[in-house]
Amino acid sequence: MLTEIKGLNEECGVFAIWGHEKAAEMTYYGLHAMQHRGQEGAGIVTSDRETLHLHKGNGLINEVFQEGQFTRLKGSAALGHVRYATQGGGGYENVQPLLFRSQKNSMALAHNGNLVNAQALKNQLEAQGSILQTTSDTEVIAHLIKRSGNVQMEESIKQALGMIKGAYAFSILTEDKLFVALDPRGLRPLSIGRLGEAYVVASETCAFDLIGATYIREVKPGELITIDDTGLHSTSFASPMQRTLCSMEYVYFSRPDSNLDGQNVHASRKTMGKQLAKESPVEADVVTGVPDSSISAAIGFSEASSIPYELGLIKNRYVGRTFIQPSQELREQGVKMKLSAVRGIVEGKRVVMVDDSIVRGTTSRRIVGLLKEAGATEVHVRIASPPIENPCYYGIDTSTKGELIASNYSIDEICELIGADSLSYLTTEGLEKSIVSDTNSMDHGICQACFTGNYPTEIYPDTIIPAYKD
Ligand code: SF4
Repeated sequence: MLTEIKGLNEECGVFAIWGHEKAAEMTYYGLHAMQHRGQEGAGIVTSDRETLHLHKGNGLINEVFQEGQFTRLKGSAALGHVRYATQGGGGYENVQPLLFRSQKNSMALAHNGNLVNAQALKNQLEAQGSILQTTSDTEVIAHLIKRSGNVQMEESIKQALGMIKGAYAFSILTEDKLFVALDPRGLRPLSIGRLGEAYVVASETCAFDLIGATYIREVKPGELITIDDTGLHSTSFASPMQRTLCSMEYVYFSRPDSNLDGQNVHASRKTMGKQLAKESPVEADVVTGVPDSSISAAIGFSEASSIPYELGLIKNRYVGRTFIQPSQELREQGVKMKLSAVRGIVEGKRVVMVDDSIVRGTTSRRIVGLLKEAGATEVHVRIASPPIENPCYYGIDTSTKGELIASNYSIDEICELIGADSLSYLTTEGLEKSIVSDTNSMDHGICQACFTGNYPTEIYPDTIIPAYKD
C-alpha cells in the first residue's frame, strides 16, 4: 500500500489476549500482522494478575521490541497497539496502550478510532480539576472511568461509554480482567477469536491467522465484553443502531486476507472491480492494478470486462518510508521510488489502471505518467470507490477538505490534472452493493461519509480541530 504518500492513514490496530502463557509474544505477532494500520508507535502491556508491565516506543513493532523485553513482560494476559499519529499528535506519551497506575485497579487502555466529543469532554474534565497528560482521546476515556467512582469496574466503564460519542474500538486491561467495547454504530472493526483455551481480540482477523487462532465472531456494536478466568461475558451499553462500519476498511485499509463483519476483504474488492467494469466500461488491451491494495479490484475488473489482467505496475520493495518527506516534489519522488511500470507489458497498449482511491491526485498523476513513459498509448483510470470529498472524523486521516482533489475539482478536471485519457469512479450504490449483501439489514451496513458527507453521528463544532480546518 502507498499509505504514506497517498494521504490516507489508518490510525490504529488493537490486539489483546487472555489466558496464554506467551501472551506478550502472541501480542507481538498479532501486532506485526497489523503493522499496516500504524507505523509510528507500538506498545504492549501485560498482566501477571498482580501488576501491569508496559513496554512501548516510537517506530515499527520490530524497532520497539527486542527479544530481551519479553522476559519483563510477564503474565498470561496482554494488550497491544500500533498507531499512526494524527489527531492525538506524536510523542512517546501518546503511544498506546496508556497505563494508569493506582493502588488498586490499575488499568491499561488501547483505542482505535476517534471521539467526536473529545474536546468538550476534555474541557469539562479540566474544569473539574483533572490534569490531562497526553493529547490522546484515550486518556479522556480513562479519566471518565476513574471519576465514575463505581466499585465495579464494568459499571464504571459502562458509565464512561455513555458519555463518549464517535468511533471507537477499545480494550482495557486490568490486573484481573480484560474489557473490550465497540461504539454503538460499529464504525471500527473488532473481532474475537480463540487460541486453545485463550481468548484473543483484534482489529483485523489477519492477526488471528498469523498466530493460529480461530475466529469466533465480531464484537457487536454497543457491546461491552468482559473476559476473565470465568470466561467471556457480554453486555450492552447502548441500544442497537444501524451498523455503519467504515467502508474504507474494505476499499483500502484492511489486509485482503482479513474478514470484516464476516466478509472477506479481497472478495469485496474483487466485487468492487467487477461492479466498476459494469458501471464504466472501456475499450482497452490490458488491466493493471496499483499495488498492493488495488490488485484485487483490478482482477475483478478484468474478469467482468474480459480484458486480460497484467502486472503492468510493480512495487519496489525495501525502499525507505517516504512520509517524512513533506514537500510535494519529494512526495512525487517517493512514488517514483516505490513503483515501476513494466515496459514489456504496457508498451503500445491501451491500459486500464485500477486504483482504490484518489486523495490529493499526486500519486495518480505520477502513476499515469509512469505508464505513459513506459509506452502505454492510452491510460484509462478506474477508481474502485466514489470520490473522497469530505474529511473523516472517525479516526482516519483523510487530509483536509482543501487537500482533497475531489472536493475542489470535477471528475473531468481531475482526469485532465492526472493526465489520464478517461477517469471514472465507482458509485456509492455500487460500493454498498459490493460490501453489504443485505442492504436492509440493521446489523450489516457501511459508513460512506467521506464520499457523501452524511456522517452517521452528530459532529460537534469542536470536532473540526485546527488540523482539519481548511
Ligand atoms: S468517513 Fe470515510 S474513512 Fe471515515 S469512517 Fe466513514 S467511510 Fe471510513
